[in-house]
Amino acid sequence: MSRRKKIYEGKAKTLFEGPEPGTIVQYFKDDATAFNAEKRDVIEGKGVLNNMLSEYFMVGLNMIGVPTHFIKRLNMREQLVRAVEIVPLEIIVRNYAAGSLAKRLGLEEGTQLPRPIVEYCLKDDKLGDPLVSEEHIAAFGWASAQDMDDILSLALRVNDFMAGVLYGVGIRLVDFKIEVGRVFEGDFQRLIVADEISPDSCRLWDVETGQKLDKDVFRRDLGSLTDAYTEVARRLGVMPKGATPMARPTLIN
Ligand code: UDP
Repeated sequence: MSRRKKIYEGKAKTLFEGPEPGTIVQYFKDDATAFNAEKRDVIEGKGVLNNMLSEYFMVGLNMIGVPTHFIKRLNMREQLVRAVEIVPLEIIVRNYAAGSLAKRLGLEEGTQLPRPIVEYCLKDDKLGDPLVSEEHIAAFGWASAQDMDDILSLALRVNDFMAGVLYGVGIRLVDFKIEVGRVFEGDFQRLIVADEISPDSCRLWDVETGQKLDKDVFRRDLGSLTDAYTEVARRLGVMPKGATPMARPTLIN
């Protein structure tokens, strides 16, 4: 068995060359980072939970016609995805004020926004992913006007789907981040949802109690991150009976 070629190692995931051209194996690590990697830890089981939860959301999105990079889950820690050219933007959708928006505008966390608000940050760790406007995006050519229309539409469709699914299990979708990538099909190119959708990239609050079930548990030292993510997985029926997020990976060949 030959060793797979590593393409990229990020903070929470490692990407390997996939078995077919145009595919990538996405490996979910247990590493947790916050505040631009100033705070870091290894949380056993996080990678397994995020792999399963991201699969759940991406499969649902594919089923309602929102294109994503997800092809199939390979094992507890890995999924096969389509290779994309990542658009260098973090696309943030907010339904309630929290985090940096609450701080920037002096809003109380949890204030319902008049409508979903979409924001864009430049993907650049060295700069701390700064907020950018559509003017910046157009002027620097990070995405075209057509791309921005498609991105807005994808972001709002993902928001409607996720907010509905989560509300059904008593979880409020406060905000989340997605990334999109370009795929080329013959003479055409289109944008699809890429990266991951998991409690690492969302704010999820229990509807009744307001309890945080997302990465803020780690950022703000609010308890066990694994317990919080396991609760989300349990409510969505994602963890198979008897499965434990601590299981080690089965390698694919
Ligand atoms: N987010 C993310 N990655 C980032 C920045 C933000 O996944 O690099 C998510 C974050 O988990 C939250 C939403 O995007 O669900 C909005 O984050 P915010 O701008 O409030 O930043 P934060 O307060 O998390 O730094």
